[in-house]
Amino acid sequence: MLLLLSGCQNSTSKQKLYQQQLFSFGTLIDISILSNNEPLALKAFDTLSADFDLWHHDWHPWNPGPLSRTNQLLALQEPFSSAPSILPLIEQARQLSVKTDGLFNPAIGQLVRLWQFDQLENEQHTFTLPAARNIKAMLEASPTMGDIIIDGIQLHTNNPAVFLDFGAFAKGVALDRAMKKLKNLGIKNALINAGGDLKVAGKNNGRAWRIGVKSPQAAQPQLAAARQQLSVIAVIELHDGESLFTSGDYERFFEIDGTRYHHIIDPRTGYPAAQSHSVTVLAKDAGLADAASTALFIAGPEGWQKIARQLELAYVMLIAADNTVYLSQAMSERIQFLGDNKIVIKDIE
Ligand code: ADP
Ligand code: MG
Repeated sequence: MLLLLSGCQNSTSKQKLYQQQLFSFGTLIDISILSNNEPLALKAFDTLSADFDLWHHDWHPWNPGPLSRTNQLLALQEPFSSAPSILPLIEQARQLSVKTDGLFNPAIGQLVRLWQFDQLENEQHTFTLPAARNIKAMLEASPTMGDIIIDGIQLHTNNPAVFLDFGAFAKGVALDRAMKKLKNLGIKNALINAGGDLKVAGKNNGRAWRIGVKSPQAAQPQLAAARQQLSVIAVIELHDGESLFTSGDYERFFEIDGTRYHHIIDPRTGYPAAQSHSVTVLAKDAGLADAASTALFIAGPEGWQKIARQLELAYVMLIAADNTVYLSQAMSERIQFLGDNKIVIKDIE
């Protein structure tokens, strides 16, 4: 949904742009580093490549690794020592879940699996609608982050329906950590773009990082190629340490009989949330921005302001199912629309 707009530069003190792509968290990750130290930039790419592999392995809900092991142990309903790579995520996710009134609920991994969103990459898989009784059973079991009891490093739950899936959150945590790594290596100016979710550091050769926000319709594969130029609906500048995350109904979905079922599940109904096309959140903390974009998407045009307030967000854009664009006051002062979209500005203070 987002792309980097390059600015023209004439300054002689211009830093060189180094770019590398890697594949992690099911998406291409573009790393851009501005530096005059080539060995350092190359070292940074190697470091981040290894880190992303590790985070992806550690935080995968069902491939063998620490999180899938955590899920197996939680199911036994006995206390166990948490893996060090998992505990901080559980703690942060728990707080975010409370502040989103449970709309961001990473404990609903079994529900996500009922919808077969673990099969989107499997071309052999034939998607079917989950049986209503299975969804009902998950709603009755009502797994929440509050069902995980934390005692020091010991974890346990009495709710066997708890199954952790950090799909709405882990990419954000990874971007926060990756940027911190770059900073520690001495890199001041960088952009990491994980399939449209991104975080920046410093500046783009003396200027703010300029990001193009694409329309959710243009992001549909059949339209994207032809409308590449027309598809940027707005431009926004990002400053040091800011992150921009989007949750949309157009990126991960399957279709049955012409109806689209996307991957953002309303924990109150057990079905894909229907009120929004996309939500974009700008915040410093990428983990927060990631979880928030998912929660506000579910909250929809009626409920997003309350959740945004609870999360202390300032910058939100929600494109509703009817294509009305809702902007927080602060977002409206920063984002520049290029077309004549129907825009409604709301206060979340
Ligand atoms: P993306 O992965 O495209 O960035 P999101 O950040 O919105 O999109 O995350 C969606 C993923 O989060 C789903 O694939 C699923 O694994 C998980 N998920 C779905 N619904 C919820 C929910 N209500 N709360 C927490 N995680 C969810
Ligand atoms: Mg998210």
